[in-house]
Amino acid sequence: MYRTHTCGELNINHVGQSVTLAGWVQRSRAFGGMIFIDLRDRYGLTQLAFNEGWDKSLLEEASRLGREYVIQVTGEVLERSSKNNKIPTGEIELKVTALRLLNAAKTPPFTIEEETDGGEELRMKYRYLDIRRQPVLDKLLLRNKVNLAVRQYLNAIGFVDVETPFLIKSTPEGARDFVVPSRMNEGQFYALPQSPQTFKQLLMVGGIDKYYQIVKCFRDEDLRADRQPEFTQIDCEMSFVEREDILQTFEGLLRHLLKEIAGVSIPPIPRISYEEATRLYGSDKPDIRFGMPFVELNQKTQHKDFKVFNEAELVVGINANGLAGYTRKQIDALIDFVKRPQVGATGLVWCKYNEDGSTKSSVDKFYDEADRKAWLEAAQAVPGDLLLIMAGPKDKTRKALGELRLHLGDVLNLRQPDVFAPLWVLDFPLLEWDEETQRYYAMHHPFTSPYPEDIPLLDSAPGEVRANAYDLVLNGSEIGGGSIRIHDKSLQQKMFAILGFSTEEAKEQFGFLMDAFEYGAPPHGGIAFGFDRLVALIGGKESIRDFIAFPKNNAGRDLMIDAPSAVRQEQLDELMLSLKA
Ligand code: ASP
Repeated sequence: MYRTHTCGELNINHVGQSVTLAGWVQRSRAFGGMIFIDLRDRYGLTQLAFNEGWDKSLLEEASRLGREYVIQVTGEVLERSSKNNKIPTGEIELKVTALRLLNAAKTPPFTIEEETDGGEELRMKYRYLDIRRQPVLDKLLLRNKVNLAVRQYLNAIGFVDVETPFLIKSTPEGARDFVVPSRMNEGQFYALPQSPQTFKQLLMVGGIDKYYQIVKCFRDEDLRADRQPEFTQIDCEMSFVEREDILQTFEGLLRHLLKEIAGVSIPPIPRISYEEATRLYGSDKPDIRFGMPFVELNQKTQHKDFKVFNEAELVVGINANGLAGYTRKQIDALIDFVKRPQVGATGLVWCKYNEDGSTKSSVDKFYDEADRKAWLEAAQAVPGDLLLIMAGPKDKTRKALGELRLHLGDVLNLRQPDVFAPLWVLDFPLLEWDEETQRYYAMHHPFTSPYPEDIPLLDSAPGEVRANAYDLVLNGSEIGGGSIRIHDKSLQQKMFAILGFSTEEAKEQFGFLMDAFEYGAPPHGGIAFGFDRLVALIGGKESIRDFIAFPKNNAGRDLMIDAPSAVRQEQLDELMLSLKA
């Protein structure tokens, strides 16, 4: 037996017992004639004590142990004279009577403790060492807990975990596929799934009724910060449901997770339409941990000689509570923020509601006290507030002001990681027009059903058709999205036509699905959650990377195994592939 206990287990009640532990040497401290070692395993740290007076040769052996050596020790549990109340084992130590070296270790490239000196890249290269650190380990343990809680909830209400294939067919919709050459089928390729979308729909045709899977998905996108080319979804689908059934079921899932894992009870999740979300917050995934809704000021600004406002499609402001005392310099910093290319605004007009009730703005040349008061009133500002106004094309201006709103949320400390503010966003447009390619794209995916009452608009005004789709947003991140699906062959065919597929193309790409729709497809709908992001948010963190055991860097590389990499010529030959010279 390698051990009788773990390194996180022993306490005052074990005093006097003889035990055996195994683990890694985290740190060793020598004082004349004495050595103390922190022995670590997944469960915690235990202090080992060696004393010249007890056993001189053992002390010498201990002095030769380096960081991260793997050892096994047997000894007696003693009450410590100076206790450490920060760790569960802090009241005891082990008086070592036997020491066995299980494996030596090179000096690790960074400190493996709670705090480390290792940079991001270095820690990724030696990820197995980073995982020994408590903060990283804790995130993986949290992930496991959430995974289990998801399964418990879904199993309890009849969902069945069904695996779907990873080697599937490449399709032109959505993001770019990762493709896999087939050796046995010359010149042909599989694709890795971007999601199990069509399979889960086919499972509904198969009568599975309630499906779920915690499953890897793959998207070959240009990587933005904190995106992973492979990521995990909680993928779900249900038959004989309407939107309301899905919203209830998965509101229940989020409620269960927050309760079980974070100990937080949430009130019923508010709902907002896409139109309202963009109009009030400049985003389809608003962070509603704080208010600061937009106020549109076109009407109240158009009657003077200020061209910027007069010519703008939209004049819109937000009220920054309590910031009227901002200095010129502080306001300039906000202006610099909105002018950054990522935000892309041209400027910012400000209007202060001073504590004494007077007002002042950066456009006093054009607008008088009565104008300013009218704006402030529209924004429900009170003395001490600062109104910030942007003007320009509608979509762009809303987006930029949305960024400023989030920035102010940060500045004012209104985005606390332990506050959970979920939100359903509903009534998305079904289609999005793309100027460049002069065609419509499905805003969600081509299988999303339009609102039944909007179906007649598909011919006359496709851009106005609303999708029977929904996103679940948590603290400003989209954590889930889905829709009621089309289950009727002719409607699906029509959808493909609107998306620019010829009949042949649609048949070639999605014939299997439309065939299935001819054999009694039930009405169905579903949702998928980004599991990595969900776990990160429950853990109160922004970045998903540490919640993935072996993540890739921003260039899509695994720095540890050094992938992707070249393959041998023989492999290429076998696959009938040649590389361009
Ligand atoms: N398959 C969709 C996605 O991956 C989600 C869904 O509609 O269920 O975004």
